Amino acid sequence: MKKTRKKTESQARVALVRCGNYDSGKIVESVKKAVDELGGIDRFVRKGQRVLLKPNLLIARPADKHVTTHPEVVRAVIKLVKKAGGKPFIGDSPAIGTAARVAAKCGIADVAAQERVEIVNFNQPADIDNPSGTQFKKFKIDQSVIDSDVVINLPKLKTHGQMTLTLGVKNMFGVIPGTRKTQWHLAAGIDRMQFARMLVDLYQRVSPQLTLMDAVVGMHGNGPQNGEPKRMGLIMASEDAVTLDDAACEIVGLKKDRMFTTIAAEELGIGHSRLQGISIAGERLEDCKVAGFTFPETSDLIGFFPGFLKNYMRDWLTTRPVLNQKKCEQCMVCATHCPAQAISKHNDTLKFDLTRCIRCFCCQEMCPHGAITVGTGPIARLLKL
Ligand code: SF4
Ligand code: SF4
Repeated sequence: MKKTRKKTESQARVALVRCGNYDSGKIVESVKKAVDELGGIDRFVRKGQRVLLKPNLLIARPADKHVTTHPEVVRAVIKLVKKAGGKPFIGDSPAIGTAARVAAKCGIADVAAQERVEIVNFNQPADIDNPSGTQFKKFKIDQSVIDSDVVINLPKLKTHGQMTLTLGVKNMFGVIPGTRKTQWHLAAGIDRMQFARMLVDLYQRVSPQLTLMDAVVGMHGNGPQNGEPKRMGLIMASEDAVTLDDAACEIVGLKKDRMFTTIAAEELGIGHSRLQGISIAGERLEDCKVAGFTFPETSDLIGFFPGFLKNYMRDWLTTRPVLNQKKCEQCMVCATHCPAQAISKHNDTLKFDLTRCIRCFCCQEMCPHGAITVGTGPIARLLKL
């Protein structure tokens, strides 16, 4: 893993390449074109280097549910890395289950076997210092991430209950092994911006050399697991995930004040933004805009109130998990993964203790039946935010 990078002009470049479906040949062509727009794979990978490919392996679902990075995108990047003489391997730490299990379900394990590439489950936490981090000076990430020479980040464009969208910056959260992710949710607490700052600090520390996003079919609505597929027809790539994420927000029509990692990155002076000018290669950004993309509710009013009132009023001001009783199968996956232990069962129904709840939306993210959505607080609802 390389040292934290400095901001450079080449990071401002985002490649946008049209790609209408997951046909293997089409994906290979589009991925190569996107990377060529950034100067070619030889800029990022040299002969003999061990290259981590980090897809989004959130949870074990088939590829056609569009929860995980598509296996053909992973295959195309494997081929490119091998062509440059690199030694690719795939790694992640899913929300539930192992990387091998999730990869088997979504088809990435078949691709890995055909291409003779190893899949590593991140379960060996090791300390790394983060001296340039603004608030988070140490992380425990997987040893295989530290040992890699190059990191290629392969996010899937999807909505996310807490962060609005999960894109390039958020995809790096997976380098933290297993249940340790829970501790970061607890450390950040109810403040979304604190969690976003942690994600940006972590992204900056890992500094993937290249981020290539699967936006051929994204997910909108109640993502990142239970939303609707949204056809976008794009492969997107950049050296800098902050810049890439900003371009993605422009494409799906998300206002900047709802993309918390981008706000945090701007605070920290990382990446390029719409204000500072992103340089687009390939398709024109205007031509790639997608209509009708729907987002989870993330409007909180808590920031407008003084500290002494926040705790008292937070249940009225912030978004909260909302249960659809008809969809709930009472499997208790949500309760098992709730960092704040705010979910319990009473008289055959689920109860959310909103005084404990930190609004991380892990329950909404992990519910296998799509029974939890993100709802608006009563005051925000009254004001129609
Ligand atoms: S994970 Fe979903 S289905 Fe299972 S108990 Fe929780 S809300 Fe119900
Ligand atoms: S109830 Fe849901 S949103 Fe609240 S802390 Fe638990 S997992 Fe997070």
